[in-house]
Amino acid sequence: MGKNVFIYTFGCQMNVHDSEKMLGVLSQGGYQNVTSPEEADLIIFNTCAIRAKAEQKFFSQLGRMKPLKRRNPNLQIAVGGCVAQETQKKIFSRAPYVDIVFGPQNINSLNQLLDQGRKLAVADNPGLAESEFDIVRDSSFRAWVAIMYGCNNYCSYCIVPYTRGREVSRPSDHIVEEIRDLHKLGYKEVTLLGQNVNSYRSDTDFPGLLEKIDATGIARVRFMTSHPRDMSRELVAALAGLPSVCEHIHLPMQSGSDRILSLMNRGYGFADYRDKIAMLRAEIPGIAVTGDIIVGFPGETDEDYQATLSAIQEIEYDGLFAFMYSKRQGTKASSLDSQVPESVKSERLNNLLKIQEQITENKNRCLENAELEILVEGPAENDPARLMGRSRANKIVSFADNGERAGEIIRIRVTRAHMHTLEGINLAINSHIV
Ligand code: SF4
Repeated sequence: MGKNVFIYTFGCQMNVHDSEKMLGVLSQGGYQNVTSPEEADLIIFNTCAIRAKAEQKFFSQLGRMKPLKRRNPNLQIAVGGCVAQETQKKIFSRAPYVDIVFGPQNINSLNQLLDQGRKLAVADNPGLAESEFDIVRDSSFRAWVAIMYGCNNYCSYCIVPYTRGREVSRPSDHIVEEIRDLHKLGYKEVTLLGQNVNSYRSDTDFPGLLEKIDATGIARVRFMTSHPRDMSRELVAALAGLPSVCEHIHLPMQSGSDRILSLMNRGYGFADYRDKIAMLRAEIPGIAVTGDIIVGFPGETDEDYQATLSAIQEIEYDGLFAFMYSKRQGTKASSLDSQVPESVKSERLNNLLKIQEQITENKNRCLENAELEILVEGPAENDPARLMGRSRANKIVSFADNGERAGEIIRIRVTRAHMHTLEGINLAINSHIV
C-alpha cells in the first residue's frame, strides 16, 4: 500500500519548487501527497533561514509534531531546506523526535535517506546540484523551473551562500527540454528560478538562455531574482526583443544609501541602480518594476533611511517587498556594531510601507482603461462570482466569471484600480464595450 507525505513549506519560491521536487522524488518511492499532517506517514519541513522569524515559526510548528509522533511511532519526520543545512545539531537537540535532517542539495536521495532510517543528518553534497528531478507540479498551466542553484555574491546580511552553496547553472539544453515538455503539456507560463539568474552561465549566458526558451513557443517567461549589478545592456536588449519575456522585473535595491549598500556588499550604488531602471523603462514600455528593501541594517542612520525613502519615491515601484533587517548567525553583518533597535526598525518599516502604498495605488490608477493580456488563474479571493488572473506585468486582475478556464489567456479592459488589484472586463465577451 502507498504511503502518505505531508510537506510544510516555508520561505521563497525556490523552496516552493524544492517541495515540488521532493514530491516528485517521493512519488517514485510510493508516496502520495496528502493535505493534513494527521494522515501522513512522513512529514517534511522545508525550511527557510533568511529571516529569524521564519526560523522561529518552523521550530514552533515542529514542536506541534511531538504528540503526532507519540500517537504514531512509525511516523517519520524529516527536516530539509536552509535551516536544516545550517543547524543540524540544534534541530536534533530541540526536537529529538526528528528522524532525518537533509540539505537542499540532497533532495534526489530522499528515498534512500528514508530507508536508512533514524537520526540521520546529511550535509550538502555539491556534486548532486546538477541532478535532474521528477517534479510533481502544483499547477497545470504555470511552472517553476530552476535554472541554477546557489549564489556567489556574499551580501553581508545573507545566509544563502552558506546554505545553498556556490553557483551551479543547469545546462541550457536540459532547461529548454523541460520547458518544451511543459509547453507540449499545455503550460502557458514558466518562471525561471535562481538566487541571481542574471549570472546564469553554462554553454550560454542568461540572454542566450532566454532566446532559446523563447524559441520553444511557451507563451510567457518570467524570472527571479535579478541582481542589479548583473543587469547588463545585453540582457535588457534580450528582455525587450523576446516576445515571450513578460514586462516585469523584480530588481532588489535593498537600500537607497550608498554607505549602507557598500556595507551590504551589494556591488552598486543608488545612481547605478537608478540608471538601470531608466534603461529598462526606456527599452521596455510598460514594464512593471518591483523591488526589495531592508530597513534597519546595522548602522543605518536617519540620513541613510531618508535616502531610501527618496529613492523609492524617485523609482516609483509598482510593488515593494520591504523587511526589517534580521540578524543571521554566521553572516558578516551579524557581527557589525550598532545594530538598530527593533522599535526603530519597525517604525521605519511602517512609514516606508505607507509611502509605497500610495505609490502603488497611483501606478495602478494609470492602468484604468488599459487593455491587458491576462492568464486566468482561478476564483478571485473574497468573491465567488469573479475570477482572477495576472497581466504580463504581474498585476492581479479580477473579472466576472463567464466560464473562463484556468490556464486560458484572455484580453481584459481595466475598469477600476485598487491599491493591490485591478478590476476588468473580458473583451471577448463584452466586445460591444470596446
Ligand atoms: S545575491 Fe546576495 S541576497 Fe541574493 S542570495 Fe546571493 S548573497 Fe543572498
